[in-house]
Amino acid sequence: MAFTDLVGQNKLKSRLAQEVRAPHVASYILSGPEGSGKKSFANEFAQALICEDPSDDGACGKCSCCKYMKEGTLPDVLRLESPDGKNIKAEAVRDVIEDIIISPQFSSRKVCLVDLDHMTETMQNLLLKPTEDPPPFVVFIMTTSSYPSVISTVRSRSVNLVLLPYSDEEIGQIIKGKLDDIDQGKIAEAVEFSAGNPGKAMSLAQDPLFSDLKDDVMDLMLAIPVVSYTNLLTEKLGLFTDNKDHVEDILILMVRALEDILKVKVSEGDTPDDIRYKSDIPRIARFLSEHPSVTAGTIGRSVAAVEELRSALAVNANYEASCGAALLKIKKEFCK
Ligand SMILES: [Zn+2]
Repeated sequence: MAFTDLVGQNKLKSRLAQEVRAPHVASYILSGPEGSGKKSFANEFAQALICEDPSDDGACGKCSCCKYMKEGTLPDVLRLESPDGKNIKAEAVRDVIEDIIISPQFSSRKVCLVDLDHMTETMQNLLLKPTEDPPPFVVFIMTTSSYPSVISTVRSRSVNLVLLPYSDEEIGQIIKGKLDDIDQGKIAEAVEFSAGNPGKAMSLAQDPLFSDLKDDVMDLMLAIPVVSYTNLLTEKLGLFTDNKDHVEDILILMVRALEDILKVKVSEGDTPDDIRYKSDIPRIARFLSEHPSVTAGTIGRSVAAVEELRSALAVNANYEASCGAALLKIKKEFCK
């Protein structure tokens, strides 16, 4: 494996190649939403760092360090990961901290891969000392799907490398061959609604509820100016309370629905290009003619309200109150 074996993220790849030549800090954080491929990049970065003969394309794949790493037997690569989805225990963190200061056995470096999403604040605190003052051969490569939830002291001593959304074409390449039993139309729809996230595209394509959820979100957006405030905060809020596990999907769909409403608005009667909710164009057009108060500006501020909701939920704000507040903001915008 080398960096070019991973699809997309060209900026990140050239940055990683630079850091492989001369890591300028002892701790890196790769951040991006779940399903964005940050663990694949973290592994590839780790292998390039321990490789005896790395190039700009990462690890050579042939030296003994590369071979041992592939087999999972290289003692110079330590892992703080959660195989079972549970939080990492203090004992595991302490073992790694003790091990990391011992000189590497095969490579010139020692690399520790850390899954911050499965570490409580207390566990993250244990990493402070080792990341602040490690032996010169140590590099930490941490991953998180929620950078704001990483404790600030760990953030401040690490370099944050962000995974950007993939193009639909790149996602197509990544998931090719992985969804053989699923209808091509469904896969294409999932890619369009995945917000540039290959893992999300995979899960949406396999989710029987996705098509319903997609329709429910458009129904909600088009009903917002019509329903009463009470109805909005009871019945309509039910979409969020009933689908709490899928809130990330709902937020993506809300943004997609708003974007499509905007596209229909600005197309002024022509068929808009590049629209996701294709079969909904007639009812979106009807909605816009009934509600002239819905303008490009109010739609833009409604998208901002959805993004604010996403940020609030990332820091564990009250779920129902935050969702309700976002709906109210959108209603105020739509009814201006
Ligand atoms: Zn190698």
